[in-house]
Amino acid sequence: MEERIKQLKKERNAIILAHNYQPPEIQDIADYIGDSLDLSRRVAEDDAEVVVFCGVYFMAETANILSPEKITLLPDAHAGCQLADMITVEALKKKREEHPDAAVVCYVNSPAAVKAESDICCTSANALAVVNSLRDYDKIIFVPDKNLGSYVASKTDKEIILWDGCCPIHDDVELCQIEKLKRNYPDAVFIAHPECRPSVLALADEVLGTSGMIKFAKKTSANEVIIGTEVGMVYRLQKENPEKKFIKIDGAICKDMKLTTLDKVEKSLKNLEPRVVVSEEIRVKAIRAVNKMIEISG
Ligand code: SF4
Repeated sequence: MEERIKQLKKERNAIILAHNYQPPEIQDIADYIGDSLDLSRRVAEDDAEVVVFCGVYFMAETANILSPEKITLLPDAHAGCQLADMITVEALKKKREEHPDAAVVCYVNSPAAVKAESDICCTSANALAVVNSLRDYDKIIFVPDKNLGSYVASKTDKEIILWDGCCPIHDDVELCQIEKLKRNYPDAVFIAHPECRPSVLALADEVLGTSGMIKFAKKTSANEVIIGTEVGMVYRLQKENPEKKFIKIDGAICKDMKLTTLDKVEKSLKNLEPRVVVSEEIRVKAIRAVNKMIEISG
């Protein structure tokens, strides 16, 4: 199967991207592995004509926003994101009306249409810098992740209006699970994704997005690291740092991320389907919000 995929990739002039939470066999065939924004930026720099985005829907949309001239494929069209589904354009417009003096900061884990209605996007890594960059605003509507929003609120003087959304996979990480792992691995450091609840983040040695975790894992002198995010991350960390031990959180599994299979990747390359296309009207508005973020974070 890997050989067939390689062959089709060549014939189609395609690249395969895999998010850090993808299953091991998908990470192993990918040209690039990373977080959603890193991957989308890779697409924009690459001269491939076809992009197979092994991730979830909003990620493929972001790739298409940045590179509309390329064919963007999502091997399983049903791979969605429960967090992104917790917001709609209509509800966001209503919230704006309630707070006309606030700017809207939108986490990249959101639908393209919501990005289009926002002033600026952010990632988990640059959320605080993005919020603080909005010098003309004291009030920020932060969507759609309330845990990331709370984390930012704890670090800025601005008033943050939270959206009632969360990633259920990170929000379900229990304080008692972490306490137990810390008891079992007393020498381990604990790094947590800011989509986890504030009570869990309070126990973390570092709060990091997935790209930050990769850098941290390389440079830390700790031999054991508890990984407070989706379990797929542990595969990559372990592969890149075989001398260290990475401890996963049992049950932190995003089912949508696991919908991608080698079989579906091969089919999508063969049929050039299912495609993700963002309408031009939404795309031009959404890219403004994405580019504003890129200007700030470089
Ligand atoms: Fe969405 Fe959470 Fe799955 Fe990421 S882990 S794709 S935020 S549901």
